[in-house]
Amino acid sequence: MSESAENVPTVSCSRCGETWTLSHELDELGLGNGALEAFAIDHREHTGHYPDDVTPWVADCRHCPDGVERIDETAARRWANSHARHTGHGIDLDGDGSTERVTPE
Ligand SMILES: [Zn+2]
Ligand SMILES: [Zn+2]
Repeated sequence: MSESAENVPTVSCSRCGETWTLSHELDELGLGNGALEAFAIDHREHTGHYPDDVTPWVADCRHCPDGVERIDETAARRWANSHARHTGHGIDLDGDGSTERVTPE
């Protein structure tokens, strides 16, 4: 059983000085962005930082200490919209190098 590693994505972290293959995540989660996302979240949980080329979307409430970080834009946006809807607060949504203001409707 020597599968080609060609199609296995890798992740590197310059802070850790390491590179990992995602074969473990792919085995557990299947192909797709989920593997990278799972790895990035795990890495953050255990080291306090994200690996290279992973920039989370950050939703930060301007009125209260609430906020989230999500790798997935949709998840961050959902949190921001839902927080605005329920609290009437305005939220800064940072991602892709720009900041967007989410305000209650
Ligand atoms: Zn690291
Ligand atoms: Zn708030």
